[in-house]
Amino acid sequence: MEINPVHSRSVLLVIGTLFLLCGCSSTNKYPPNFVLLKDYNLDKYHVVRKMSEDTNFKIKPNDFYVHPYYIGIAASVNPQTRDIFLSRRALNSECLDFFIAHEMGHLQEGVGGDQLIADYYGAMFVGKEKGEKCLFVLFEDSLKYFRKDTPTDRAFYYNHIRIFSFRLYSFHSCVI
Ligand SMILES: [Zn+2]
Repeated sequence: MEINPVHSRSVLLVIGTLFLLCGCSSTNKYPPNFVLLKDYNLDKYHVVRKMSEDTNFKIKPNDFYVHPYYIGIAASVNPQTRDIFLSRRALNSECLDFFIAHEMGHLQEGVGGDQLIADYYGAMFVGKEKGEKCLFVLFEDSLKYFRKDTPTDRAFYYNHIRIFSFRLYSFHSCVI
């Protein structure tokens, strides 16, 4: 069979374009409204990066993003990409150190869905007294703000339970 040179060239062109498109999209892990913290606020980026270098955390985060849909104080971590997401209110909170340590606690524990263990890492980082204060900050914030992913009443009771557990649990073996 004779191969049409014009036809084969256009096939190559299509393959090449697809290759380029795939290459470009793989560098964008998230939609464009997930802004890298280093682009949003470089000073704040340096602050949280320095926190993450604490030797208590063996597994380091990859990068930090400002989450476009978090309204109240909120933070999360993607265990696959090791990226941490912060709301603008979390970034401006005096408890930013506790939130970062909490999310990094999830990273240390693998998939790490346990909030109390993550709070334990938070307390280890900021101390028990501030850790408890920060849980109250979260608790009060959940009363004011409706979160897209967490109904307010659930967040209210959930954060309440966290504060009680935090108080009941003796942190003497972990607080530095
Ligand atoms: Zn958590």
